[in-house]
Amino acid sequence: MHEVAADEIHGYEPHLTPELAGAAFYPQDCQVQPMLMAAHLLRLAREHGACVRTGTTVTGFLRDGDRVTGVRTDRGDISAGHVVNAAGTWAGEMAALAGVDVPVLPRRGFILVTEPLPPTVFHKVYAGEYVASTQSSDEGLQTSTVIEGTRAGTVLIGSSRERVGFDRTVSLPALREIARKALALYPSLAPVALMRTYLGFRPYCPDHLPVIGTDPRAPGLAHVAGHEGAGIGLSVGSAKLLVEAMTGATPTIDITPFRPERFSLQEVS
Ligand SMILES: Cc1cc2nc3c(=O)[nH]c(=O)nc-3n(C[C@H](O)[C@H](O)[C@H](O)COP(=O)(O)OP(=O)(O)OC[C@H]3O[C@@H](n4cnc5c(N)ncnc54)[C@H](O)[C@@H]3O)c2cc1C
Repeated sequence: MHEVAADEIHGYEPHLTPELAGAAFYPQDCQVQPMLMAAHLLRLAREHGACVRTGTTVTGFLRDGDRVTGVRTDRGDISAGHVVNAAGTWAGEMAALAGVDVPVLPRRGFILVTEPLPPTVFHKVYAGEYVASTQSSDEGLQTSTVIEGTRAGTVLIGSSRERVGFDRTVSLPALREIARKALALYPSLAPVALMRTYLGFRPYCPDHLPVIGTDPRAPGLAHVAGHEGAGIGLSVGSAKLLVEAMTGATPTIDITPFRPERFSLQEVS
């Protein structure tokens, strides 16, 4: 990361407001198209022998004593030496089916999508308050600007965070606040039309860390979930850490802070 002086910002982002005191530039920051990335990961998994069963719901777990030996689904039972709970925002419900507590909860977020524009936003641009917003434990509406252009010319404008369960109602106050803050950073977007908005539910844990690892409370079961607003970027790295944990390989980093049983331990202490 290097600092960018106020008078240099326009060399990076010519349409940003001139009112800024300075900026930070992350040269290694990258963008991915999430659906394309998911498609590539699925293709690679299939090439390595995975069988992908879409439209199949896990309804329970097969057990041999304490040990998890597979899953029960609405299309029949599947036996397995290991089961990985990667159910995203629903990972808590999935864990509950196995009788263990992994508190992954939904955090609603809206994104605004503009009409295709000539190149306007050249990097993923965050307001400094974004980090504080991701780490906040407030339940109410929080907004912090993050703006990025896409190859198609649309500009994606976020972001909001709210703890409202799985409520899919469109919130005009949230959309308005996202737009207001974005215009403060990019005044030239004022006349631009929005094509659509969308919402999603980020999977978060109360301590804002993901859950990655095998579960000592249910041998045979592992979890990888709860990555909040970074689960796409962190997906491949998280899978690597989980494989290391499951195979006993030397861990690339210490994953103790991510252990699935940490919440029950906190209750005991
Ligand atoms: C508005 C918004 C903006 C975001 N921006 C970014 C960003 O810029 N960068 C980034 O990295 N991340 C971003 N995220 C976060 C990212 O989308 C998530 O962290 C990520 O998608 C989580 O991936 P996952 O594989 O853990 O879960 P998911 O992608 O949710 O996958 C879980 C899967 O499990 C399935 N499932 C659930 N229950 C069952 C069951 N009982 N049986 C079978 N299947 C089941 C679900 O159908 C789903 O397909 C954003 C999220 C939102 C909402």
